[in-house]
Amino acid sequence: MINEKSYALGANRSCIRDLFEYGCQRAAIVGRENVYDYSLGNPSIPSPKEVNETIRQILSDTDSLAVHGYTSAVGDFSMRKAIADDLNDRFGAGAAPEDLFIMGGAAPELVAVFRALAIPGGELLAVAPYFPEYKPFAEEAGLIFKVVPPDVPAFQIKLDAVEAMLTPSTQAIILNSPNNPSGVIYTREVLTELSALLQRKSQEFGHPIYIISDEPYRELAYGVEVPFLPLIYPNTIVCYSYSKSLSLPGERIGYIYVPKAAADSSLVYAAVAGAARACGHVCAPSLWQKVIARCTHLRPDLAAYDANRKALYEGLTSFGYEMANPDGAFYLFIKAPGGDANAFSEKAKQKDLLLVPGDGFGCPGYFRICYCVSPEMIRKSLPVFKALIEE
Ligand code: PLP
Repeated sequence: MINEKSYALGANRSCIRDLFEYGCQRAAIVGRENVYDYSLGNPSIPSPKEVNETIRQILSDTDSLAVHGYTSAVGDFSMRKAIADDLNDRFGAGAAPEDLFIMGGAAPELVAVFRALAIPGGELLAVAPYFPEYKPFAEEAGLIFKVVPPDVPAFQIKLDAVEAMLTPSTQAIILNSPNNPSGVIYTREVLTELSALLQRKSQEFGHPIYIISDEPYRELAYGVEVPFLPLIYPNTIVCYSYSKSLSLPGERIGYIYVPKAAADSSLVYAAVAGAARACGHVCAPSLWQKVIARCTHLRPDLAAYDANRKALYEGLTSFGYEMANPDGAFYLFIKAPGGDANAFSEKAKQKDLLLVPGDGFGCPGYFRICYCVSPEMIRKSLPVFKALIEE
């Protein structure tokens, strides 16, 4: 006997993974250069060179047992202190090392925070389009997952819809900005209005409603402000990751920030630690904690992503494709010509152009492309996009 829910999750691969596998198979037949694979969000710019230099330094100046041994479950003090200093320098956050919990990237952080906030009958709101993993993470945690309909075509937040969906059982709303899949950055205005709404409703319901801010793309913004949410809404819990900001997705390192100003912050922090423990968290990778402790000042060089973004945005809009402002992350979310994104992706697939339909993101009728790709691939694929819309 096995657990049916776990089996279903494991047996049904995500559509993105399926497309990626399909791309690998086609590459073996027609050649990698003839497959235009826009499916997977794997960073295509290298980590800053200081990251590898720091690894070498640590291996030469730190005792090997200390490098590879267990660390405290909450994370090395040196990493937490460096992050707090960085948040204070950049945003005036008022963060302290004891507000930070180090984990292996945003995915396990979200699981820990969802579990920490899951009370019987508790509800989590996600704003469409949203990262598909939120749903299994939330439901396995025991939260009821509810989707706020998309704010088409700008993909900001439909505040009237949020208001209509808030109930006394709402524990939290999860936000992801810069957004996967839309590439949109929520504006300070919309976040300020959301904050006022949540404060009013928290008072009405007699308990805090938290914002969970999922921030793997915080540093990927092209000249547009990414507001620091805890200063707009104090009851914000941040899940941050270095997967995209330092191109380290395989290394698994990030942090949870529970600001002291958040309601019941010490209880929430303890519940996060307990939830992490119950998921088998022992400590985040020790070497990477030491690397980040010395690298919090590093930011990605976005020139290559920005060039890709502009080439695709300009090319595709000139052919008649419609999309929201792609001010951040490395995605474009595009209205499917004809309205059926699955049919459109299928047609594109026949031409070895791999696009992810928006259904899994809670937003049918759109498809996502990830532009962590070579400029050459973009150049070669644009005529295919043109032919498809003309058909
Ligand atoms: N949240 C969003 C919106 C993502 O796009 C991703 C990864 O692509 C994650 C969370 C998980 O990131 P990590 O690699 O830090 O676990």
